[in-house]
Amino acid sequence: MQPFWREAFGNAASLHHFGREAAAALDEAHAILGCAIGARAGEVVFTGCGSEADNLALRGVAFAMRHAGRRGPGHIITTPIEHHAVEATACQLRDLFGFDLTLLPVDGCGRVDPDDVRRAIRADTVIVSVMLANNEVGTLQPISEIGAICREHGIPFHSDAVQAPAYLPLDVNALNVDLLALSSHKFYGPKGVGVLYLREGTPYIPPITGGGHERGRRPGTVNVAGAVGSAAAMRYVARQRDAQSARLVALRDRLIAGVLDRVPDARLTGHPTERLPHLASFVFKDVDGESLLMALDVEGFAVSTGSACTSGNPEPSPVLLAMGIPPAWALGSLRISLGYDTRAEDIEALLEVLPRCVERVRRSALAFSHG
Ligand code: PLP
Repeated sequence: MQPFWREAFGNAASLHHFGREAAAALDEAHAILGCAIGARAGEVVFTGCGSEADNLALRGVAFAMRHAGRRGPGHIITTPIEHHAVEATACQLRDLFGFDLTLLPVDGCGRVDPDDVRRAIRADTVIVSVMLANNEVGTLQPISEIGAICREHGIPFHSDAVQAPAYLPLDVNALNVDLLALSSHKFYGPKGVGVLYLREGTPYIPPITGGGHERGRRPGTVNVAGAVGSAAAMRYVARQRDAQSARLVALRDRLIAGVLDRVPDARLTGHPTERLPHLASFVFKDVDGESLLMALDVEGFAVSTGSACTSGNPEPSPVLLAMGIPPAWALGSLRISLGYDTRAEDIEALLEVLPRCVERVRRSALAFSHG
């Protein structure tokens, strides 16, 4: 990335030689990203982040298909476990633009049944959006089956694949997707760069208006260093992915077994096997997720929780509630992401401290409730 901040700092939209140099690097980044997901270079659109890619996907198709040959604006299908970038965009299309919105049911593991997609499709459905892998519980969805159903009905299909590239191979044709969102920092690239795959011929009106950058699909000067960095990161993960994923599945399963064995009143969330190779997620009864996160942070472990504390009032994650997890459990959620650098010793060290941290957080909550 460094040359594109220093000596080769041209704007890829400029015609002079600095610009042409940047444009050539950007063309190469499109080609590398496209090749990595089975797409053509021209179908790759660089964005400012994964959220932006999701926003462009839903809004771009919805705008293009709005009122197409029918009375109402149209109908959108998605799930209750999407990242906010999809969920809030779908809700805004409903609330401000009049689209109907169907949220598909998910089972206790967070899986969508493709037959439910088939049943939800209507004559006025304009887009279906189902995430490839959930960011809180790691569950993988049957994307190619859902995509095949959408294709049968001629409905554009979007998938948020932000969590996937470092751990799962992606091929837009095998997945039967028309749109796919990625975020570079989730595959060891720079933060603040996203990618939208937009299949040639998909109805799309750019929700951002401006110049002709990214062939008019995402107007605005492109972050050339970021695009180059994303392409390099995609090459990097493509080389390591299979070996790393196999290694991480073993570590993840060791972690899951250890936690369930050593921590009382603990449950795994998400699917036991159809899950991201690097992600272990749990709920602990009568535990405040944020307190547990802070306790683990003090011990040197950076983890996350799906529950959030808004104005002193803990809120369980809507994703866990949609999976039927009771609020008293959902408030104590913990997501542990492993990575290419995680070693077996790290898992053992975490298994040493986690039971103590859970116990301490439970005890202090109990003491607090008893005044
Ligand atoms: N979608 C999913 C599944 C995510 O996990 C994230 C980020 O964590 C996003 C979308 C948003 O990506 P970004 O932070 O690049 O906007």
